[in-house]
Amino acid sequence: MSEREVRIQSIGRTLLESARREEARLAREHRWEHALLDWCMQNPELRTRIFRFIDVFPQLDSPSSVYHHIKEYFPQDEDRIPAFIRRGLALARPAVLTRPALYHLTAMMFRRVAGMFVAAPGEEEALAVVEDFSRRNVRCSVDILGERTLSEAQAAGYFERYRTLIRALGRLKQGRDKQNISVKLSSLTSAFDPADPETVGRRVRERLRELVRLAKQQEVFLHIDMEEYAVRDLTLKIVRDLLEEKEFAGGLDIGVVLQAYLKDVGQCLDDIFSWALDLKNPLTIRLVRGAYWDYELMNAQEKSWPVPVFLQKSGTDEMFERLTRRILEETPRVRLAVATHNVRSIAHALALAEERQTGKDSLEFQLLYGMGAPLVAALLEAGHSPRVYMPVGEPIRGMAYLVRRLLENVSSQSFVRRGIHEQSVPQDILKAPAVGKEPPALQRPNEFVECPPVRLFDANERKHFRSALDNVRDQLGRDLTGVIAGHAVEKKQKGEHVSPIDGKTVIARTSYADAADAEKALTAAAQSFPDWAARPVGERAEFLRRTALWMQANRYDLAALEVMEVGKPWREADADVKEAVDFLNFYAVSAEALMRPQAAISFPHERNEIRARPRGVAAVIAPWNFPIAILTGMSAAALVTGNPVVIKPAGPSVFCGWKVYEAYREAGIPAGVVHFLPGRGELLGPLLVEDPRTALIAFTGSRSAGLDILRRAGESTAKARMVKKVIAELGGKNAAIVDDTADFDQAVPAVLSSAFGYAGQKCSALSRLIVVDRIYESFLKRLIEAAADFPAGNPVEPLTLCGPVINAAARDRIQAAVEEGRTQGVVLFEGRIPEEAGGFYVPPVIVADLPADSRLLREEIFGPVLAVIRARDFKDALQKANDSDCALTAGVFSRTPSHIELARREFEAGNLYINRPITGAVVGRHPFGGYKMSGTCTKAGGESYLREFFIERTISENAARHGFAPFDEGEIGKM
Ligand code: NAD
Repeated sequence: MSEREVRIQSIGRTLLESARREEARLAREHRWEHALLDWCMQNPELRTRIFRFIDVFPQLDSPSSVYHHIKEYFPQDEDRIPAFIRRGLALARPAVLTRPALYHLTAMMFRRVAGMFVAAPGEEEALAVVEDFSRRNVRCSVDILGERTLSEAQAAGYFERYRTLIRALGRLKQGRDKQNISVKLSSLTSAFDPADPETVGRRVRERLRELVRLAKQQEVFLHIDMEEYAVRDLTLKIVRDLLEEKEFAGGLDIGVVLQAYLKDVGQCLDDIFSWALDLKNPLTIRLVRGAYWDYELMNAQEKSWPVPVFLQKSGTDEMFERLTRRILEETPRVRLAVATHNVRSIAHALALAEERQTGKDSLEFQLLYGMGAPLVAALLEAGHSPRVYMPVGEPIRGMAYLVRRLLENVSSQSFVRRGIHEQSVPQDILKAPAVGKEPPALQRPNEFVECPPVRLFDANERKHFRSALDNVRDQLGRDLTGVIAGHAVEKKQKGEHVSPIDGKTVIARTSYADAADAEKALTAAAQSFPDWAARPVGERAEFLRRTALWMQANRYDLAALEVMEVGKPWREADADVKEAVDFLNFYAVSAEALMRPQAAISFPHERNEIRARPRGVAAVIAPWNFPIAILTGMSAAALVTGNPVVIKPAGPSVFCGWKVYEAYREAGIPAGVVHFLPGRGELLGPLLVEDPRTALIAFTGSRSAGLDILRRAGESTAKARMVKKVIAELGGKNAAIVDDTADFDQAVPAVLSSAFGYAGQKCSALSRLIVVDRIYESFLKRLIEAAADFPAGNPVEPLTLCGPVINAAARDRIQAAVEEGRTQGVVLFEGRIPEEAGGFYVPPVIVADLPADSRLLREEIFGPVLAVIRARDFKDALQKANDSDCALTAGVFSRTPSHIELARREFEAGNLYINRPITGAVVGRHPFGGYKMSGTCTKAGGESYLREFFIERTISENAARHGFAPFDEGEIGKM
């Protein structure tokens, strides 16, 4: 063992012993809380329910709702519930009057659990705690709880609270050491979005600068907290830019955080050193393991991004020591704050500091309020002056923090639990971290691999998007023609369409196909049918995979074109391309599985099988709002199952449609199999639908066009040789219910993005919001406050979420509907939209108190207009939601299990989303499609979708001859 290692062990053992003594004392003092946490550890399923109950509890405002929720969250667990809750439940059951007692008991439990980790409910009370600590030679860093800032009003509120706190802390002098406050930059703006670091940085710095000035004046130290990985570089950039401001050239007392669980944290430290080593006042680097591990893993897996965190704890431990070493090597040009409860890491830092004879001021230890108490005592005993990270705030705002702490506390991986509470042997917990091999990230169980969305927090990916937007302009204004069997069809009649962003940039001049072209396309498609249908499904699937690769290679250009042509914001344009790639890969995998001959129930003397066969020529008629994804999805499903396609793109997105055609041709799909026919829907639609050679129509669009297609397809069948199959995905009038246990922080942004994202021009968009009476006023207040800051404007700007509507006609139609709503009801909110001159913009609108037959409640408006309805209770809300002839998407925001269950059973919607936005279906995970008047409920992006595109022939062969069945003895048993 090296000399250093011997020293680490010795320091570690001393610290561990005194921490354990303190822990034993605290356990006696807080016997009840410890018993509760131990009980939580016993059963993971029960633990989840306890956390969920704790999460909803602050919102339960009456004894009877507490009673009902306890019953709902713990239905069959009565024997496993601790005795004090059981007794409470028993008492509350017969007599309503005792429910208040249960309420008070639960509230008391909650307060005690919260009190373990949150120092005080408000700043005033927090000061008393700071003073208390200070008398014991313990320093603090005060943190105001709260994680999501939904509006600028809320951000302004935080800003004021920070200012008040800094002033108050300034009055509490603490010897020569400064008081300390931790600030989350996300609390200073409602749009802490890394997609545009320059703009966001400027906005945040405006407020941060004020705080820094005040802190300087009051001699308070400002520590900038770190949040999730996606905002790490943005956070550090803001601090760096601030420090480079002339005003602060004289030096600033400020700190940043480094998270050792991130695999690329080494580069991040290099970057910090590149600007921080020569600062007048050394930068403090708080080194933590990282608090968002579960979130980072979940988020990366969900988006198919590389997982940014170490999966093995030892990876983080080893990195922690490496970073400690590197920072101490640069001390005192920077200061290190070791923020961990891991005694080994603390001992390691102390041993290293001893070796380097780093002055005491250059190294400090930070511990969390509550959890770190035994170590605070141990460090004090060893002659150090630790700092406690001290969160203050009300339970609702602090819930995310509280749940993180609780999870950490009951996790078997937690050092406090393993090392101090459960007392594992010292050599085990003090041993040097071994660098384990990282396990591969979790793989999904099937062959389909999702295309990851772009990561706009990554500077490189942002750069690609930006330059694609610059480059795409050179391509605009070109002539587009139809292509039949590989030959361009040039016509005299040309349609010109412009970008909705400014109303003048010409996107393309398109030669409209006419009846003769439709005839030619159908003839060519019909001719190619036998050959295409006869190819092995694997070969056709390969074409799809190649198309996907082409699209992926051109993803930035395709997304940029969508921004320009249909006004989609960055993320949504990228999501559309991602979805197209997913459709191609998913249908390739699914077709290979589904189109293989399948065995039906058989006997040895009777062999039965089902064979798939393509239907014939498919007319694919697409809308403009998901210009690449929907067109690709419908045509790819037809192609892979063996049907040649005639593509009729929507007029406003014809260039995107052409790109889909180009992708197929680049992938090598034969010219006779896919044809591109731009033109007027009212002319080409009926021609394609009624032609006897058309076997299949895949349509997505408006109700009127869809019903027209269904009727024509039915009637024209008389002339045809087969019954036509129609897939018709139509519009929605989608509702979401918000009940009195909804998490507002979750519901408000989800409602806004569902209603106003892409200016409400999605079939899945939210247009009817139903809020239960109890929270109607309070929810709407939060919603309207946040709506005011929903980023609307030019979609070329990466922060924009609500851009223009598709054209002047749509703008006029939506505005007329809003005007009608104004006369019928009350406009609660009308946004402002900083528009590009000449573009087609409609500001977001929220309207309430409409009569039941109002157009805004009955018809699809397809714009950023949200109608609000008040409901008595959840049942009433559900009834109101179902009072519609559409059934496409729907949402529920609730934490009451029985309400969620009722919605699962009875909410009439093809896609029901619970506690999340109601748009954004992902291929394979959320097969998409509605019923009632919303369409044929053929689930795009699901396996069953492909079945619509082929027919199944059953073949039964009698294998018996003259009573002799050709089986051997072994087969009899298998019969
Ligand atoms: P639209 O019906 O106007 O046009 C869709 C396509 O049909 C276009 O290619 C158009 O040229 C063509 N068309 C028009 N009239 C036709 C006719 N008589 N016969 C055959 N084809 C005809 O719809 P849109 O404005 O492009 O798209 C918006 C609508 O699409 C909204 O109602 C929206 O809800 C719906 N939509 C539904 C889904 C879904 O999956 N359910 C998805 C996206 C869009």
